[in-house]
Amino acid sequence: MSLQQTLTQFAKVDLLKASTPLNRLDNLSRLYGREIYIKRDDMTPLAMGGNKLRKLEFLMADALAQNAKIIVTAGAIQSNHVRQTAAVAAMFGLKCVALLENPIQSEDSNFLHNGNKLLTDLFGTQCVMCEELTDPQAQMAELIQSLDLKDAYIVPVGGSNGIGALGYVQCAIEIAQQKPTNIEFDKIIVASGSAGTHAGLAMGLQELLPAAQLIGVTVSRKQQDQAPKVEKLQNELAQLLKLEKTPEITLWDDFFAPMYGMPNRSGLNAIALLAQKEGILLDPVYTGKAMAGLIDYLDNSSDKTPVLFVHTGGAQALFAYSEINKTIK
Ligand SMILES: *Cc1c(COP(=O)(O)O)cnc(C)c1O
Repeated sequence: MSLQQTLTQFAKVDLLKASTPLNRLDNLSRLYGREIYIKRDDMTPLAMGGNKLRKLEFLMADALAQNAKIIVTAGAIQSNHVRQTAAVAAMFGLKCVALLENPIQSEDSNFLHNGNKLLTDLFGTQCVMCEELTDPQAQMAELIQSLDLKDAYIVPVGGSNGIGALGYVQCAIEIAQQKPTNIEFDKIIVASGSAGTHAGLAMGLQELLPAAQLIGVTVSRKQQDQAPKVEKLQNELAQLLKLEKTPEITLWDDFFAPMYGMPNRSGLNAIALLAQKEGILLDPVYTGKAMAGLIDYLDNSSDKTPVLFVHTGGAQALFAYSEINKTIK
């Protein structure tokens, strides 16, 4: 059975309707003298786009199968995941409750109210603040108790469990289909956070484009803490998809400092480069840092093999970080 056929056995709601584009970055390719492509998962069609919609295709089908009436999820105030989950819940007529933290302890008004938070509110989500998401699954279970929510379905942080990560196996299938026949990607770069995107792509690419090396650029933690998260999800996917082996995990972890949710100079420079060379918007929390990893590699590598950047979205946060970014040295 093909991977696509296996995947079709899982219930899914169709949110994407069509493949996202996979394009050549002409100006960046010229600049670096090599083939540089981008997968535009920032252009998924709901809620201004982003990678969480692929996971929600499977998670929302699971929620509906369980007759859920309320979707509960968690994340940072500027969570792209919460924004997209809120939109999908609204679309299916479900109430959404979000448990939010302020990971960078910012009091900036744009951070607290603009960007993703503005959109999450617009989708009608009930937001509850907490001090810190130390054990989100337990904290969401507590919230369900304390608010006495009935028929609640928990979508994990980032939508990252085995079911959600199936969305990125689907994305790997798309990439393999869209890849120009004369191009063999040597490296595929993606931001690695709650790790469902990374793990799903890894499992799919292992089957379909085994010559390509997938690299996760961490946005929250060092490789020794991130690798087990990716591995756990890869193992869950292997079970679900009945695949024998899981791929080796490659992580670059020099690009997220000082911490999750706090921009850095190389990330902001990467955002400016993509905006000014390609008219493409990255974000300060995920894709700017992942692109900083790719640019560092391009600047320092002597080979000229083709690479692919997976754009996972997030530009909505630019509006929330307008003041914070000015303070970054
Ligand atoms: C959530 C997110 C990621 C990371 O995806 P994970 O599956 O959580 O690793 C990357 N980029 C953006 C813009 C995101 O919102």
